Amino acid sequence: MAKRRTRRQQAILRRNLFLAACTLVLVLFIILICATCKLVSKSFGKKAQNESSKAGNVINGTVEDTRPQMVTRGNYELDAKYTNLLLVNGQNPLPDDYDYEKDLTTIDDRYREPGYDLNQINAVVYPYLKAMCEAAEADGVHLAVCSPYRSYQTQQTLFERQVQKRIAEGLPRDQAEEAAATLVARPGTSEHHTGLACDFIKANDGFELEPAFAWLQQHAAEYGFIMRYPKEKQEQTGVVYESWHYRFVGIYKADEIKQTGLCLEEYLEQYGS
Ligand SMILES: [Zn+2]
Repeated sequence: MAKRRTRRQQAILRRNLFLAACTLVLVLFIILICATCKLVSKSFGKKAQNESSKAGNVINGTVEDTRPQMVTRGNYELDAKYTNLLLVNGQNPLPDDYDYEKDLTTIDDRYREPGYDLNQINAVVYPYLKAMCEAAEADGVHLAVCSPYRSYQTQQTLFERQVQKRIAEGLPRDQAEEAAATLVARPGTSEHHTGLACDFIKANDGFELEPAFAWLQQHAAEYGFIMRYPKEKQEQTGVVYESWHYRFVGIYKADEIKQTGLCLEEYLEQYGS
């Protein structure tokens, strides 16, 4: 009788041990599942974060812009998010009453092409220009400004010079003005008036032969500048191809505009800002 009880007790003990073992295995299994879930969600979150920072680069995306505000270019810390997309062209003249001269600063001779008189640029843009010229120099490329800010009077002189050339060729005044306007902006419609644009080294087709031409094509956007009048965009810009004329728009904006292959007119029409 006692033997049978002992056997029964042993059977109960075995069953309890078995149940305890099962419970332990189950608990371990649940812990394992939880840990795996956590890992997966963590790596998914990281991936999502990466995607969102990539998406931050998407032009005018709705995702938060995670790109850094300040970037280092040589000796300069530049605000990469600073943007100026002011549109100035034949259809969008500058407001008469705006005093651009108050924003100007003088360009040091180090960054200027010898033999040219104009020497002013928008003060905010100046560090970007300096950083760009110094970077070109570090690459063994000569890059210097020949024509930055132009006052209304300077524009008038330059425009009239072109008009007179066409008149001398036999065109009547109105046609001479029209022809001149494709080469030099009509007074009041020049980007140079804003202090945001620069011609480099020489304002003629000879610039394409300068090492600076290729260098700018590759690097100008890193400093916030775009080639403003590309070869195939004359219809949109209203200005002939100018390999030497660069316009500051901002580092990230310049990169976006370069990537899209649009000119400023098209970019603004498509993206608004
Ligand atoms: Zn120019």
